[in-house]
Amino acid sequence: MSKSYEKFTVVGMAIDPIHVGTGGARLGRVDLSIVRDPVTRVPKIPGSSLAGVCRAYAAMDQQEKNPSRQVNGKPKPYYPDCAGQGQPDKTGQGGHCGRPDCPICIVFGFARGAGGGFAGLAAFSDGHVLLFPVATREGPMWVTCPDALRRIGHEIKGELEEAVYQQNNGTQRLNLGWLLLERKNTLPDGSRWPSLNLGVPQYITQHVLIVSDKLFAHIVNSNLEVRTSVSIDPETGAAEEGALFSYEALPRATVLVWDVICKNPQHFQPGGQQVSAQINGQAITGPTNVFEVVKTAHPYLEYLGLGGMGTRGMGRLRVLYPDG
Ligand SMILES: [Zn+2]
Repeated sequence: MSKSYEKFTVVGMAIDPIHVGTGGARLGRVDLSIVRDPVTRVPKIPGSSLAGVCRAYAAMDQQEKNPSRQVNGKPKPYYPDCAGQGQPDKTGQGGHCGRPDCPICIVFGFARGAGGGFAGLAAFSDGHVLLFPVATREGPMWVTCPDALRRIGHEIKGELEEAVYQQNNGTQRLNLGWLLLERKNTLPDGSRWPSLNLGVPQYITQHVLIVSDKLFAHIVNSNLEVRTSVSIDPETGAAEEGALFSYEALPRATVLVWDVICKNPQHFQPGGQQVSAQINGQAITGPTNVFEVVKTAHPYLEYLGLGGMGTRGMGRLRVLYPDG
């Protein structure tokens, strides 16, 4: 019996600051805050945002490969029809095709179809901060914590003290912005150092600091990028009255990790029919093929990005693993 599902871990690095907003919630001095984990208060990218952009970019990729798809003798483009929310417009045009031979609708789900809607074969976790860049007197360093490392399967035993843990770099204290911390070279309870060979560049892996989960939340929240901007009145070309606003973002070079759970197509009958879609010339018969469809979106993330403020140079994300 083949597996019912398989988990694929994806690691990506912010090429620009990334702003995935909460929809206008004000937080302290920041007008447009970003989404945070309710428990740890560490910013994250909701899985629904990742799924939404991956769907749109995978549909673009299908459209480029099959620019003249027809359904029942009529043009039915993968993009924009199979991207987005999937509802037809007022004239009944557009919307998800919901066909068993459509890799986009099969993998990302569809809102309608002969046999009703379908949730899709790929489920996205939230995108969590794995390594967060901070300026120090010794140059940029990337901070992580046990909670973040657990997401790549690395367990740190015991309690971390209020200190930074760094492999082979002396014991002199380290200044992280307003925090002066002891530096330790061994982890508690004989815990191993994490191997971060997930496509993360060496200039990052050689400058990793591990801190406690609690300290991590403080360090991340006090080192987010905060920008101030104004809305421009298109008639006068000048700043609009009262239009000064500030927004926060995950800084460039933040490394994020998320999981894509891919279900086995053979266990589902979307819209009451057997899956017959293909990707890269292969039938979608197992979780690996489902992930192949998700992966077609990855190159687009590096150029078209995700989240808001795209016109202000934000949002590009390079997938480092797998196939970085
Ligand atoms: Zn479709």
